[in-house]
Amino acid sequence: MNKFMVLVVEDDKLIQNLMTTTLDLHNYRYLTASTASDALMQITSHNPDVIFLDLGLPDMDGVDLIRKIRTWSVTPIIVISARSEDTDKIEALDAGADDYLTKPFSVDELLARLRVTQRRLSSQQGMPSHIFENGDLKVDFAAGTAFMNGEELTLTPIEYKLLCLFCKNVGKTLTHTYLTDAIWGNTLESDLASLRVFMASLRKKMEKDTTHPQYIQTRIGVGYRMNRL
Ligand code: CA
Repeated sequence: MNKFMVLVVEDDKLIQNLMTTTLDLHNYRYLTASTASDALMQITSHNPDVIFLDLGLPDMDGVDLIRKIRTWSVTPIIVISARSEDTDKIEALDAGADDYLTKPFSVDELLARLRVTQRRLSSQQGMPSHIFENGDLKVDFAAGTAFMNGEELTLTPIEYKLLCLFCKNVGKTLTHTYLTDAIWGNTLESDLASLRVFMASLRKKMEKDTTHPQYIQTRIGVGYRMNRL
């Protein structure tokens, strides 16, 4: 039995059943909740390792629920949202969600998100906090240097700052607003264009094949995510 405890917060019984059947088949332990108040009760009494959270719940706005959870808990939250709720997805990420699944999603996508989260949680243990390693990438935050395959990357200050944001949030989708705020302190349309330019140059320096990036994935219309390799 997998020790990982998953909380599924979803009021649509069909989707909830699909998810719990999948979790069962793959030996995950799980809890379920159909409302925000159920979810809060489950989180406070059972402290799950990861939360799948449907944004459309009957008793509370999903984004408000995330803000509430984030006042005391850092448990990874993966939002489940309908395709039409693109702005909600971005709002949810800015409120502290880690990632999202778009309905309808496949069982494979669900399991992939879980594996990413598990790897992220376990990789944070036992590494000195100033060193970050992921695949062939190594960043020394104390020295302010980054290496790929042992070779130092020549990064501009903004590229390095971006890279650090991804390393410190590996597995998390970072929205355009989050990134432009962190880099420039505000979000103007022109910053979004600059962000794309800096992301392209950062990728060129760190990815073997920029058309199939291994490290930093584009989340179309939302932002970027560094994968745990
Ligand atoms: Ca719903």
